[in-house]
Amino acid sequence: MLNMTTGLTIWCSEAITLATVLLLAWRHDRKSPAYLIWAMGFAVSAIGFALAAARGVIPDIWSIQIGNAVALLGESAWICGFRLMDKRKLDWSAFLPPAIWLMGVSLPWVSASFVNRVILYDLAGAVGATLLAFAVRPADGRREPARGQLGIVFMALACLCFGSALWMVLVSPPLEKAMVYRGYMTLAYGLAVIVAIVLNGKLLMERAERRWRAISITDTLTGVLNRRGLQESYDILAGAGPQQTQKLAALLFDLDHFKRINDRHGHQAGDTVLVEFARVARQFVPRSGAFGRMGGEEFVAFVPIDDQSQAEALAETIRADFCRGPLPAGRSMVSATVSIGVAIMARDAASWDRLVSSADRALYAAKHAGRNCTIVFNETEAAKETDAAPAADEGELVPTLDDQIQALRRMGTIARM
Ligand code: GH3
Ligand code: MG
Ligand code: MG
Repeated sequence: MLNMTTGLTIWCSEAITLATVLLLAWRHDRKSPAYLIWAMGFAVSAIGFALAAARGVIPDIWSIQIGNAVALLGESAWICGFRLMDKRKLDWSAFLPPAIWLMGVSLPWVSASFVNRVILYDLAGAVGATLLAFAVRPADGRREPARGQLGIVFMALACLCFGSALWMVLVSPPLEKAMVYRGYMTLAYGLAVIVAIVLNGKLLMERAERRWRAISITDTLTGVLNRRGLQESYDILAGAGPQQTQKLAALLFDLDHFKRINDRHGHQAGDTVLVEFARVARQFVPRSGAFGRMGGEEFVAFVPIDDQSQAEALAETIRADFCRGPLPAGRSMVSATVSIGVAIMARDAASWDRLVSSADRALYAAKHAGRNCTIVFNETEAAKETDAAPAADEGELVPTLDDQIQALRRMGTIARM
């Protein structure tokens, strides 16, 4: 029959194996301290269980008080590992399991009774497993399916520990029976931890996959979507379920005389201007839309709209904010402006190619209109499928914000007359 020492010894060798595997994983990927902390957790846990298994051979203070505290410290390390994995701050609550044990076992009526010590240990273990379930919970930007499964395993472990404590309280078994029962309980605990380790491997794989995906759709310089990301976002935007808005607008941005900025102030200053433009534009593009870099000094935004004026207002807000004043770029102050071509299409007639090529023609018209302005192609103009340069009267020059303010002031003056 299984006894407590056998159970502890099995778990001890299992923990040493897991610690070695995790240490090797950390040596392979030293940028992930979570592996090291988890490895330390298993090593500490193995030491704790070895001390507990050596009861009778070593002094009781080492096998009971210290051994169990060290074993519970392993859970604290696992909690810290999960927090480090998600780049969250470490929290003192991770050390609750060994703290609960040390406080409880300092009471003579607890330390003198094996059953009471088991109850205390299981309660501390239940708190640790609950904290583990909290540490892996999904949150914004952390939505891997394995998190939910891990959470369930940790909560099951918490229930197992709590149920075991409750059973001990209610049944109060004789010492011999309690020792055998303890052996099975240690084995069940070890099995649950093995399942958790497998799910943790799955979580790490899902996490790596999510990161690679994010990298593959992000522009490295500006941090906004790259062309691939834009195409994916456009597909989602254009294909999303029942729509309230009937139209889609593409706003194509091209920084003016950018080559000159590079030539005068250096390539790095040029890079700073690109980053600043992306920052300015991103803050105005609504969440329902998509914004990214097409390449070079060209950016695009796709937005669902009800009315042409919404696209015009967005384009003008971005243009006006960006050209408000010279930007600090390295040691120079750089003045930069942007030309914008806007194309509007009915949602069912729109496609990436048609929207972008129409916006490109509108942008061409904006460059010809003198740059630092917005030209809009309405639905009729945008629907023309041609590669030829737009005619001089094609497209509508959007009045600048200054023009619009002046016009409103004039209207106000006339109204007062
Ligand atoms: P226009 O007003 O007609 O758009 O003139 P432009 O000078 O902006 O256009 P042109 O296409 O002649 O030049 C674009 C320049 O953008 C050339 C290229 O060196 C520069 N460029 C492209 N990508 C980057 C980048 O990532 N960083 C920097 N600093 N420059 C870039
Ligand atoms: Mg260009
Ligand atoms: Mg340009």
